[in-house]
Amino acid sequence: MTAQHVPASSTDPSTELDLIPQVVQRLRARFESGVTRSRRWREQQLEGIERFVAECEKDIFEALHADLGKPEIEAFGAEISYVANDAKHARKHLAQWMKEEKVSTPLVAMPGKSTIQSEPLGVVLIISPWNYPFQLLMAPLVGALAAGNCAVLKPSEVAPHTSAMLAKLLPRYVDPTCIEIVEGAVPETTKLLEQRFDHIFYTGNGTVGRIIMRAAAEHLTPVTLELGGKSPTIVDRTADLDVTAKRIVWGKFFNAGQTCVAPDYVLVEESVHDALLTRMVAAVREFYGDDPQRSDSYCRIVNERHHDRLTKLLDSGEIACGGQHDKSDRFIAPTILRDVTWDDAVMKEEIFGPILPVLAVRDVDEAIRTVNDHDKPLALYVFSSDKSTQKKVLARTSSGGATVNHVWMHLAVPDLPFGGVGESGMGAYHGKHSFDVFSHRKAVLRKPTQVDPPILYPPYTATKTKWVKRIL
Ligand code: NAD
Repeated sequence: MTAQHVPASSTDPSTELDLIPQVVQRLRARFESGVTRSRRWREQQLEGIERFVAECEKDIFEALHADLGKPEIEAFGAEISYVANDAKHARKHLAQWMKEEKVSTPLVAMPGKSTIQSEPLGVVLIISPWNYPFQLLMAPLVGALAAGNCAVLKPSEVAPHTSAMLAKLLPRYVDPTCIEIVEGAVPETTKLLEQRFDHIFYTGNGTVGRIIMRAAAEHLTPVTLELGGKSPTIVDRTADLDVTAKRIVWGKFFNAGQTCVAPDYVLVEESVHDALLTRMVAAVREFYGDDPQRSDSYCRIVNERHHDRLTKLLDSGEIACGGQHDKSDRFIAPTILRDVTWDDAVMKEEIFGPILPVLAVRDVDEAIRTVNDHDKPLALYVFSSDKSTQKKVLARTSSGGATVNHVWMHLAVPDLPFGGVGESGMGAYHGKHSFDVFSHRKAVLRKPTQVDPPILYPPYTATKTKWVKRIL
């Protein structure tokens, strides 16, 4: 099979931008042909993704390493095997997901049979960011294909090696007449957004999220927005501090903090503030050594622009550990900040890098008030051995998802919906939820014609009215 993709607009921008409407028209014609609807076609695509991952693991890893310096274990765990397992899970459950779902029929609609049929939406657009550039394009694709759609994929230009690798290799494993990749940046995405899609699935920041939603409104296209925000971590005095410190440090500095669900800041009860901080600093040294720049277990910042943005945040509070940076190597050391206030730059935006502010709070109630004073986050973590504290935090805060006594592990459970709320996004996916995002749940009532009570038909008489009032 030959690759079907529109390359990045570096050579002749106008011509390539002009090709974009044709991409969507081609896919629409393919969707209309009905080819994507069968279970067999869907299974073949999911099998193709599994084979792609198995056969191209090295290429995928090399691209991720070139873009972000990802250590193999992080690339494998959070991207490569994640996608293979996701495709396998969808393939295994596909027959069940596609099954027409029976629901009960009330007296008013009797006799009859009521069902919900999941049908594909049509041609969908998937736009992904650079921080997990493989997983965040492929996992939505798994849902789109399981649900029987055609898809246009727009990988992030900020991770160019992964984008080029996907454009070259993916079309060999999935039906290239139904799945096309458009590489490029803002001009390409803008042109894509002028076209009519049946769903737009966007992962990235809220500013662009608003651009996506405005463009989608022109065609009344539904959107899923997987956004970010400042995900808080609350630690109370009953927490197991040794384990808590390690889990927070691991979850924060994984991918050098460039994770949408990374703990953005820590709110710790003041009575255990120093004890937690000491253990976190020790965990950083244990994980990454005395010179993290030489550690094989530590990523790089994606580009110089983000490096510059992040180093400006280092002036907030006091540095408890880290703070070193080297722009020529896109390196920023795992950094923990103490004595930070909400007036500091680091608390004004999502950090999205290896800088972790730790703030003391009087008690858990103050932590809850602090969380609720800010935008609803994508994730929230609470470390506590006290069940009533865990319950209180979950009940009185709102977040896309939450993990108790760990960070972002809720993502690894396919039956849990993954998505934001409020500023952190709308809609959710993973497992069956991905299938549902890309399906329309069509209401179907099947009626027999043998029985046809005249009671509903005009002319309306007093007797008919009496009976209708009695039945309804
Ligand atoms: P990015 O810069 O790669 O942008 C994402 C996509 O938007 C790219 O494909 C890009 O081409 C496109 N884009 C950029 N500017 C555009 C414009 N003006 N018009 C149209 N399209 C445009 O990635 P990013 O936004 O820097 O990603 C980081 C953000 O994404 C963070 O806020 C993070 O929390 C969030 N994120 C969320 C999730 C999630 O699952 N909820 C996952 C990862 C990242």
